[in-house]
Amino acid sequence: RFITFEGIDGSGKSTQARRLAASMPDALLTREPGGSAGAEEIRELVLTGDPGRWSPETELLLFTAARRDHLEKTIRPALADGRTVVCDRFADSTRIYQGATRGNLRAKVDQLHALMIGTEPDLTFIIDMDPATALARGIARPDAESRFEEFGLDLQTRVREGFLELAEQFSDRCIVIDGGRDEDSVAEDIAARLASR
Ligand code: C5P
Repeated sequence: RFITFEGIDGSGKSTQARRLAASMPDALLTREPGGSAGAEEIRELVLTGDPGRWSPETELLLFTAARRDHLEKTIRPALADGRTVVCDRFADSTRIYQGATRGNLRAKVDQLHALMIGTEPDLTFIIDMDPATALARGIARPDAESRFEEFGLDLQTRVREGFLELAEQFSDRCIVIDGGRDEDSVAEDIAARLASR
């Protein structure tokens, strides 16, 4: 089984991905951008440097290259071994960030995904949270290593709306989780939703 977590910065998705993976004996926890040696190198290229370092198109190609390496080296081998893969961000992040908010490239995102990735998760937890709450809670911390460190409420609001639209588009695999509760409640909800599938 391939399970992904998506959401705005500071939604708590990384914490919840870690907790879910820790609750399953055979799970592999991984993340994007990154998750394999080559993809972690590409992560450095995309997340560091000047904001204008890459055009939106080049950024999309780099994220896609990183995902392809992550799939080949980490995700597919683990799934082939019968393990559960829990991934913090995947292609849905590219549909939103490169496709709709940082760029306006959704058609190209979809074409590249069909051409080079293909794989969709079996299940995606979208951790939904009001950006102002994420900020007020102090969970949204500027990522020191990231050139995307600015936490803009407008951007985060558009990202949130984008994820909610994806949840409708891919309603067969997406479950929206209210992330505005305490960490334990969110984790229990996720475990219950998973058990009921
Ligand atoms: O999830 P994480 O905090 O590691 O993501 C790092 C940054 O990369 C985030 O601020 C996110 O906005 C950005 N990102 C992106 N496009 C993706 C994945 C992440 O712009 N496809």
